[in-house]
Amino acid sequence: MDRDRILLTPGPLTTTLRTKLAMLKDWGSWDADFNAVTAALRSRLLDIVHGHDSHVLVPLQGSGTFSVEAAVATLVPKAGHVLVPDNGAYCKRAAKLTQMMGRKATVMPFAEDAPVAAAAVDERLKADPSITHVVLVHCETGTGVENPLAEIAQVCARHGKGLIVDAMSSFGALPIDARHIRFDALVAASGKCLEGVPGMGFVFIRKAVLEACAGNSQSLAMDLHDQHVYMEKTGQWRFTPPTHVVVALAEAVAQFVEEGGQPARLARYAGNYRTLVDGMGALGFKPFLKPEIQAPIIVTFHAPAHPSYDFKRFYAAAKQRGFILYPGKLTQLETFRVGCIGAIGHNEMQQAVAAVADTLREMGIPDGTPAL
Ligand SMILES: *Cc1c(COP(=O)(O)O)cnc(C)c1O
Repeated sequence: MDRDRILLTPGPLTTTLRTKLAMLKDWGSWDADFNAVTAALRSRLLDIVHGHDSHVLVPLQGSGTFSVEAAVATLVPKAGHVLVPDNGAYCKRAAKLTQMMGRKATVMPFAEDAPVAAAAVDERLKADPSITHVVLVHCETGTGVENPLAEIAQVCARHGKGLIVDAMSSFGALPIDARHIRFDALVAASGKCLEGVPGMGFVFIRKAVLEACAGNSQSLAMDLHDQHVYMEKTGQWRFTPPTHVVVALAEAVAQFVEEGGQPARLARYAGNYRTLVDGMGALGFKPFLKPEIQAPIIVTFHAPAHPSYDFKRFYAAAKQRGFILYPGKLTQLETFRVGCIGAIGHNEMQQAVAAVADTLREMGIPDGTPAL
């Protein structure tokens, strides 16, 4: 079977043919035509958060993590102190990269099956005035839990602390309005809910803090202030841009706008989520999170209790039926994850559930009921 599989993962995602076709052309990185694509894309991305008045948009080569690292390096002075509320794997990654760049990081642990509590962050900021910044993961992709961005932003604003948001897996799907939510930096990437291909990230930086960022970064390639100054001056990226990724993202954003923007994207993903959890529920599977704290982005399911279950075999059998699942990221519990995002809708989700049912039959597992 040489058809593309449907990617039920947190990225890379299934993209449209139109987005793929946009990559069949070569572009000169210095050329005015390509500079125009970059400029228009930056402007369209600012539209999505209503951020033209308050923020600039700085794109960066690399996977999403590169941009998180760049945002911390650029925003946090070397003597800064970062608080990282931690309810999952991506929070831990953010804390680790902060520490590795020589910034002081304090990790504040929360349960993996609950959102970060804004009141506790408030207490912590009150208790430790040396903290300069908070790094918040909006949707913790390790489990799928949605953290309370608006509340945390209010807490940071009240204490006069900088807020850096990893909105990688939520941007474009969950509402984020820079007119109402105060953040110093917000990071997302091409290959997630905007349904582009992977290869670049982008960071919204609050204009009010931009100038003070000069000289913070210990890395040349990761310096978003430098990238911004150069791009404003020349219209070009500082170093070789991922040209095909940029044009694909521009094409993906055009389709995002045609679909109806963020509300339409959220509605489609919420539909995908419903089809998935209803269908999997009928097969006996149980989600790890309570529905009220679950974002319609990626769902963690408990593994079936049946002794014949083995993730590798389960994965291979689902793949043979055209669907790419994702392993779990919890250390204590056996789980697997299924994404609801990408250029897919009700039909694909229904087919995915049918493929899982068929996979269980092949493995001799009567249903997906977990051990609890
Ligand atoms: C995908 C993702 C990232 C970036 O991961 P990369 O593999 O570097 O693209 C960072 N944070 C969150 C919450 C994510 O979902």
